[in-house]
Amino acid sequence: MNAYDAIVIGAGIAGLGVAGLLQGRGMRILLLEKTRTPGGRAKTKEMPGGWRIDTGTHCVDNGDKSACADLLKKIGVDIAWTRPMQGMGIFDGDKWKDAGQYFNLTDAEVKQLAELEDSFVPMTDAEIDVLDKTSLAEFISQRVKSEPVAEYLKTIGMVQTTLTRAEIISAGEFVSIYREGMKFGARYGGFGNIRMPVGGIGVMTGAMAKAAIQKGCEIKYGAPVIKVVVNKNGTTELFTETESYHANVVVIAIPIWQLVGIIEVADDPLQREWYSRLVRLKDETSASMGFTMGIRKPLFTEPVYLSAWRIPGVGLPLQILGHTNFDETIAPPGHMIAFIGACCTPQQARDEAFRKDTLGKFWETVKQMFPDVEENVVWKVDGHYVGIDGLGRSPGLTGNYRMPVAMPGMKGLYFAGDCYTGRGVGMNAAANSAMICADHIKADYS
Ligand SMILES: Cc1cc2nc3c(=O)[nH]c(=O)nc-3n(C[C@H](O)[C@H](O)[C@H](O)COP(=O)(O)OP(=O)(O)OC[C@H]3O[C@@H](n4cnc5c(N)ncnc54)[C@H](O)[C@@H]3O)c2cc1C
Repeated sequence: MNAYDAIVIGAGIAGLGVAGLLQGRGMRILLLEKTRTPGGRAKTKEMPGGWRIDTGTHCVDNGDKSACADLLKKIGVDIAWTRPMQGMGIFDGDKWKDAGQYFNLTDAEVKQLAELEDSFVPMTDAEIDVLDKTSLAEFISQRVKSEPVAEYLKTIGMVQTTLTRAEIISAGEFVSIYREGMKFGARYGGFGNIRMPVGGIGVMTGAMAKAAIQKGCEIKYGAPVIKVVVNKNGTTELFTETESYHANVVVIAIPIWQLVGIIEVADDPLQREWYSRLVRLKDETSASMGFTMGIRKPLFTEPVYLSAWRIPGVGLPLQILGHTNFDETIAPPGHMIAFIGACCTPQQARDEAFRKDTLGKFWETVKQMFPDVEENVVWKVDGHYVGIDGLGRSPGLTGNYRMPVAMPGMKGLYFAGDCYTGRGVGMNAAANSAMICADHIKADYS
C-alpha cells in the first residue's frame, strides 16, 4: 500500500485547485487522474493547422475577477485574459437582434427591471440561501408582470445554468450569480466581465497542473481509481488497476455521476444514507447537443453571446459562442471557431433517435441563421455532452442543499468540484468548492 499525506482524485479545476492550495505545507501529495491530460471538462484540444478547440464554450463568468481568478492567484498562476463579452444577440426566427431590439422594453419595463436588479445588490448570502428552494419561474411570477422582462430573466437563468426550463432553475443560484456579476457591471443587455483565458481554457488548467508539480505535487496521469473503499471507522482506501493507496486526507474531486460507480461504503447507516443520496443525485445535471465548427470566414465578428430562450423549430434554448471573436490566436488567420449548442436534458441527450432528429432540425435552423455557413465549414463535429455544469442548479440542489465538502463520520475524506458546496457558474463553482475544501482541510489539520 502506497502512503501519502494527501491524495486527490481528479485533475479538473477542483482537484488541481485543492492540490495547489495544500501543496507547500510540507505535505506529500499525490494526484491521480484517469486521462492523460489535466483539465477534466475544461480542456483545449490542439489540432493540426493551428486550431485550438475548447470543450464547449468555457467562458469564465467574471473573468479576471472571478472565483477561478482568485484560485489562480492563491496558487501562484498568472494567465492572460481575452477582452470581455459585450452583450447578447437573439435570433427571432428571422434575423439577429441585439437584446435591446429583441426585448424592446418600454421605459416602464426598463425601470422595473433595473429596480429588480438593484434589489439583488444589498442581498446577504443568508437572504439568497432562502431562495434556494424557490424556482426561477416562481420568483419571476411573484415579481415581474411584463412578458419580455420575464423572457429576459429566463434567458439569463438558462445561460447561467444550462437548464432548459425556469421551473427547474433555482432562484437562489440565479440571484447569487446575477449579484456577483453586477459587481463587475452585469446588467440588462450586458454580461459584465465574462472573459476566457487567451489560448483556450486548457491554458488555465495546464498552468494549474504545472504550478502543482512545481510545488512538489506528484501527478499520475492515466491512473483511473477503480475503487474507493470507505471503512467502518471512516478511513479511506483507494485502488487503481495496479496499486492500492492510503492517505490521512483523501479528496474526491470527480463528479458525482462518476463517483457512484466506484465507491463502496461500509455497513453503516450514515454512510448508506449518504451513498443513496449520491445515487439519487447522479442524473441531476445538465446536458447539451450541437455543433463545434471551424469556419473559413467569421459567421459574425462581435464579441457577443448569441442566444434564444427557444430555438425556432427545435424548442430548446440556444447558446452560440464565436471563440475567435475574443481570441484570434486559436485559429488560422481569418478563420472562426464557433460553438452552436442547444441545452437539453440528460435523457434527451442520451436518446439517440431524439438527438438525430433534433440535430437535423437544428442544422436547418443554423443554415437560416447563417445562410453561408455550409459552404464555409472547414470541419464540423456534431456532439452531445451529459454533465455540463456539475450538479444541476435546481430548487433544493444549490447553496446549503449541495453535498458538503466533508461528511461527518468519514474521517479524512473530502469532496470538491462543481457537484459540491460552492456557488457560481460551472468553473467558478468548481474553483469556489476547491477553496472551501482546502480551508476545511487546513482547519482540521492545523
Ligand atoms: C461542453 C461544456 C461546456 C461548458 N461551458 C462552461 C462555461 O462556459 N463556463 C463555465 O463556467 N463552465 C462551463 N462548463 C463546466 C465546467 O467545465 C465544469 O464546471 C468544471 O470544469 C468542473 O470542474 P471539476 O474539477 O469539478 O470537474 P471535472 O472537470 O469533471 O474534473 C474531474 C476530473 O476527474 C477525473 N476522473 C474522473 N473519474 C476518475 C477516476 N475514477 N479516477 C481518476 N480520475 C478520475 C476526470 O478525468 C477529470 O479530469 C462546461 C462544461 C462542458 C462539458
